[in-house]
Amino acid sequence: MSAAVRAYRQIQRRKSRLIHVGKVPVGGDSPITVQSMTNTRTTDIQATIDQIRQLEIAGADIVRVSCPDEESSAALKHIVPEVTVPIVADIHFHYKRGIEAAQNGAACLRINPGNIGSKERVAEVVKAAKDHNCSMRIGVNAGSLERELLEKYGEPCPEAMVESALNHIRILEDHDFFNFKISCKASDVFLAVAAYQALAEACDYPLHIGVTEAGGLRSGTVKSSIGLGMLLWSGIGDTVRVSLSADPVEEVKVGFDMLKSLGLRHRGVNIISCPSCARQQFDVIKTVEVLEQRLAHITTPMTVSVIGCVVNGPGEATMTDIGFTGGGKGTHQVYINGLPNHRLKDEGIVDHLVSLVEDKAKQIEAERAAAEAEAAQAAE
Ligand code: SF4
Repeated sequence: MSAAVRAYRQIQRRKSRLIHVGKVPVGGDSPITVQSMTNTRTTDIQATIDQIRQLEIAGADIVRVSCPDEESSAALKHIVPEVTVPIVADIHFHYKRGIEAAQNGAACLRINPGNIGSKERVAEVVKAAKDHNCSMRIGVNAGSLERELLEKYGEPCPEAMVESALNHIRILEDHDFFNFKISCKASDVFLAVAAYQALAEACDYPLHIGVTEAGGLRSGTVKSSIGLGMLLWSGIGDTVRVSLSADPVEEVKVGFDMLKSLGLRHRGVNIISCPSCARQQFDVIKTVEVLEQRLAHITTPMTVSVIGCVVNGPGEATMTDIGFTGGGKGTHQVYINGLPNHRLKDEGIVDHLVSLVEDKAKQIEAERAAAEAEAAQAAE
């Protein structure tokens, strides 16, 4: 049995309906997607396009853009054709922005049908979504629960959040609209996790998971990893947004790192490195820091170990595509496919490892292309 499929590594994903955000499937058996949100002014069309492109390079599958006013929803007409990822328009209260966004190319509307007023308005938004093949995301947030639910439950709690979600769901279902996902976010990890767990039981719509307003890069990453880690590990979550008060590109990187840690998605190089100590035979921290930057362009899934000495180096290397272990007298050991391959002197460690990883990535891609061609030929 390969290490990747050992029983203790298996996550049984909750069965959810499949929807689409543009060309990207969400739910069902589709891969868990990673999303982020622009923080440029949407009316600054070029800046927004540039930021979306940066997010695409980082691997974002879906990007959300705020549409607080008519100029912003109008800007989507110019933004959407210039980018590859599907765009979710973030609408809060004004139903007209939702209609405009659907008309202007949004692939999904983040809108709460219970917040936009009369049945007629909801019907208009749903019609626009149907006409333009637009999905929706119901976004329940502990910080903005409906007043009647707060009065009923006394405070934001999982029950209130699920009831809010079910109320919004019912409105869309009453309009024969089922092409939506749901989020149920809170900045409190306990509340967010409990709400998602309850919502996962209460419906089979795909779930967009996140701990909202999680904080800055480090604290937000930790908080999100605990909350989303709990959910993902138990099979809950079809699309992920890590909310950080940081460059949105960091949100995408953290999202992928979370999924990589749980073996739920593989993209790019997974570096396994030791914290270093007095036994290290080269500067592990500096080497890993530079390697992470130099290998950021690799999208092929692969594992690289960078370990300071023989205490853990050879063992870790057996489970990696490329391994590097510090050795005595400035002579280090390189492993390829888990086996010792050659030795390397102190000079040019990073350049050497980068070129090994790039070659390995090319080899993996070529093998994959050959296997796909063979499978296609067999299917003919
Ligand atoms: S692998 Fe070696 S250098 Fe790295 S932390 Fe362990 S003992 Fe220290």
